[in-house]
Amino acid sequence: MNVLWLQSAGCGGCTMSLLCAEAPNVFDLLEGAGIEFLWHPALSEETGAAVRRLLEQVESSEVPLDVLCVEGSIVTGPRGTGRFHMLSGTGRSMLDWVRNLAQKAQHVVAVGTCAAYGGITSAGGNPASAIGVQYDGHHNGGALPADFRSRSGLPVINVAGCPTHPDWVTETLMLLASGSLSAADLDTLARPKFYAEHLVHHACPKNEFYEYKASATRLSEMGCMMENLGCVGTQAVGDCNIRGWNGEGSCTRAGYPCINCTAPEFEEPNHAFTETPKFAGIPVGLPSDMPKAWFMALASLSKAATPDRIARNAVSDRIKVPPKQKAGKT
Ligand code: SF4
Ligand code: SF4
Repeated sequence: MNVLWLQSAGCGGCTMSLLCAEAPNVFDLLEGAGIEFLWHPALSEETGAAVRRLLEQVESSEVPLDVLCVEGSIVTGPRGTGRFHMLSGTGRSMLDWVRNLAQKAQHVVAVGTCAAYGGITSAGGNPASAIGVQYDGHHNGGALPADFRSRSGLPVINVAGCPTHPDWVTETLMLLASGSLSAADLDTLARPKFYAEHLVHHACPKNEFYEYKASATRLSEMGCMMENLGCVGTQAVGDCNIRGWNGEGSCTRAGYPCINCTAPEFEEPNHAFTETPKFAGIPVGLPSDMPKAWFMALASLSKAATPDRIARNAVSDRIKVPPKQKAGKT
């Protein structure tokens, strides 16, 4: 299976993430699965005329294309022309190339939240009119229309994340290579369910603090970051704390709140990322599948029952009170 990778309007962080894949590294993994890059801007030697020739060959169907991967959002300004972002030397916009090459591809994969929904590039006033490949924020319909289907019959597969997890990309490509990814394997925002059916909250090492609503008050403290520091891991999809990044890391493991980077419009939360918006002292963003009254009842009960060890460790940057060992039988 061949892959053509285009970098559009993003920071390149999704490629950096992919290259950081370990055990196995991305080259060994893809080679072992029979997946090869026709071209990737950071990995391939070809530049300039050679790349333009390849793009023309794909566009004319002279070179069959299995997977078109797009990283970064698609710039449509000014006034829908896309001419704010020209593909160097071709005289044509990236918008134009993506629209045409997508028609030729067996599968189209949006790598990262910029490509999926617009992401960071579309934040603020969005002067470049940046959008996703098939979504514009929550709205279905981006550079490609909502009813677009690649030759396989699938919509654009949104491997969302900012950056996206390297395994999410390689696993998606391997599922496509083995013919094992169908429309039923995508969620309602076209994200692969293998990672989108988990919550970031699952396996977060702060779960014991969450259970007692023992909250951190500042970054670097050990407590749960939901109540004060903006963590939305109970609502954000992603298996970040289950599979870990490079085997061990995640945002919450590193002491930073989950900001829901796998979701459309995460870049505009309307408050600081490290602040929890509250109404009458109650966090607005409660777990989506728990009635508010239940949550409040459980929270006040668990706060009242918080062991001293957990309460004190929650507001410390290291373990202040170790667990007590029960006296063993002698
Ligand atoms: S999704 Fe995030 S990491 Fe990936 S290109 Fe966009 S801004 Fe960079
Ligand atoms: S810090 Fe966030 S992800 Fe971790 S337990 Fe608290 S709410 Fe869940």
